[in-house]
Amino acid sequence: MIRLLFYLLIGYALYQLIKGFLRKNRASTPRRTEEMETFRDPVCGVYVTREDAVMGKLGGKNIYFCSTECLEKYRQDCTNTSTHAHESGGNK
Ligand SMILES: [Zn+2]
Repeated sequence: MIRLLFYLLIGYALYQLIKGFLRKNRASTPRRTEEMETFRDPVCGVYVTREDAVMGKLGGKNIYFCSTECLEKYRQDCTNTSTHAHESGGNK
């Protein structure tokens, strides 16, 4: 009988733990991702929606930024790293 109570307690504790964990996860992810497509600004790490984003076409890929400043920064970084990659011969 005591053992049964013990298991119940552990089960309850686990349940609370999982519940808290799930809630934490949900809170850390932006709610907007569920409703619309979001893109992560590779420069400052901000999440932007397609509507709000500034789109830059780099290397045949569409990349979304929070502002034109970030786009310019990324474009400069991109050209810098690509020349570096050519020098070292490491091209992904
Ligand atoms: Zn940005």
